[in-house]
Amino acid sequence: MSEKSKSDIEIAQEKEDTKARIMGTVPRTITQMCTLCRNAVQASERYPSYLCGRCASRAVDADGKQPWREVQYWEGPCFVDSVPCWLEEAHLGGTVVRIVESLTDEQRKDRGLG
Ligand SMILES: [Zn+2]
Repeated sequence: MSEKSKSDIEIAQEKEDTKARIMGTVPRTITQMCTLCRNAVQASERYPSYLCGRCASRAVDADGKQPWREVQYWEGPCFVDSVPCWLEEAHLGGTVVRIVESLTDEQRKDRGLG
């Protein structure tokens, strides 16, 4: 008898379900992973490749600064652990950070990334 091996997402969902049971909360539905660290993140149809909060918090611009913390609307290139990313205002507020490579050709063109 061979058991189908579980995907990372299934494992993450089981962990989340267990945590929620212990905490007495409603489990989050996990169907995607942070593109950088593979941590499970909440599914997003709009942003299928967004970075988790922990990775996004390490984003810096070319000068090693985080100008988006000072201004309300900021969007532009940034780096997380030297990986080229793009930071922008999220649709429902806050910011979203994505690895440039994970953007579609059209999204890259829209952002002047060639
Ligand atoms: Zn991450």
